[in-house]
Amino acid sequence: ASLLPRRSACLRRAASKLSVVAAMGDDPIKEWILTEGKATKITGTSSIGGGCINAAQRYETDAGSFFVKTNRRIGPAMFEGEALGLKAMYDTKSIRVPLPYKVGSLPSGGSFIIMEFIQFGRSRGDQVTLSRNPFHTKKKVTLHFILQAFISILYLEQIGHCQSALGRKLAEMHKAAKSDKGYGFYVENTIGSTPQINTWTADWIEFYSKHRLGYQLELISQRFGDSAIYEKGQQLIENIQPLFDGAVIEPCLLHGDLWSGNISSDTNGDPVILDPACYYGHNEAEFGMSWCAGFGGAFYNSYFEVMPKQPGFEKRRDLYLLYHYLNHYNLFGSGYRSSAMSIIEDYLRMLKA
Ligand code: ADP
Repeated sequence: ASLLPRRSACLRRAASKLSVVAAMGDDPIKEWILTEGKATKITGTSSIGGGCINAAQRYETDAGSFFVKTNRRIGPAMFEGEALGLKAMYDTKSIRVPLPYKVGSLPSGGSFIIMEFIQFGRSRGDQVTLSRNPFHTKKKVTLHFILQAFISILYLEQIGHCQSALGRKLAEMHKAAKSDKGYGFYVENTIGSTPQINTWTADWIEFYSKHRLGYQLELISQRFGDSAIYEKGQQLIENIQPLFDGAVIEPCLLHGDLWSGNISSDTNGDPVILDPACYYGHNEAEFGMSWCAGFGGAFYNSYFEVMPKQPGFEKRRDLYLLYHYLNHYNLFGSGYRSSAMSIIEDYLRMLKA
């Protein structure tokens, strides 16, 4: 009889252990944190805002904090691309990026990524960031541009002291990671939510023409039936070569989507970059989102000290903005058409094409 209470206590313990295992099986995020993440308990979770696409959470545990993004609709391919990009940048030991830990599928559909949690410094906490496009009507896009410029100036002032470190460390990353496979990446990834094609290609002009400008033009033509921009864009692609005269181009690891929403600094004031769309490309393509990044003179001066400016840098600047304007046209609609079209037309005039 004296064995009975002991046996039932054992059974209860076994049953509760089983239910923990079952619960963990239902939740692969908790499961990873409590096994490979080396935590024995999760003390709290909280939502983090500011993302454009996914839900983000901080998991606090007795082994430190973890940053987790989930997407209920899409499979793990997008986060696998993000993890490969983060790891490639992390391995350069140059600019700070969160170390990715785990990507997986959610049992109810969708996927997740777990990575190092980074405590941002003042510049991030107080930073006002603007989503890529909070306005979805044509009329309001002008207002969006004005706001974007204003917020870029605010942002620039806030992180003024970080600008030079950001420029230097970004250049160190570009310098450190070269590819022997040419231009492209190990997987396709996404720019915003648009697929980004990364087929390895030996020649940069071919890669940028086909997989960056050409791909976006095709999408615009399919989605909006805009044959005018498609044809003028193709005409630019056919005449693009002289823009690269005299430039030495090497495949450097790029963050790929560098705008103020993806730039921060840690509690030491060191720059941090997040949420990449990495590929190996011409380093100047990294400045394609500079219209939303607030890079100032201190940034570029430090950058060029490590990665010297190539002949023709200024005349290629708009060519690299064009990819992102075309992508914004695809993502947010025709409010971005005129910016893209005027870049194309200016080049056609300049190149007498
Ligand atoms: P999305 O994929 O939806 O665009 P982000 O990668 O931009 O999401 O992340 C959303 C927000 O979470 C960011 O604006 C940033 O404030 C915060 N964040 C991103 N990565 C980390 C991290 N490793 N540690 C702490 N906070 C992070």
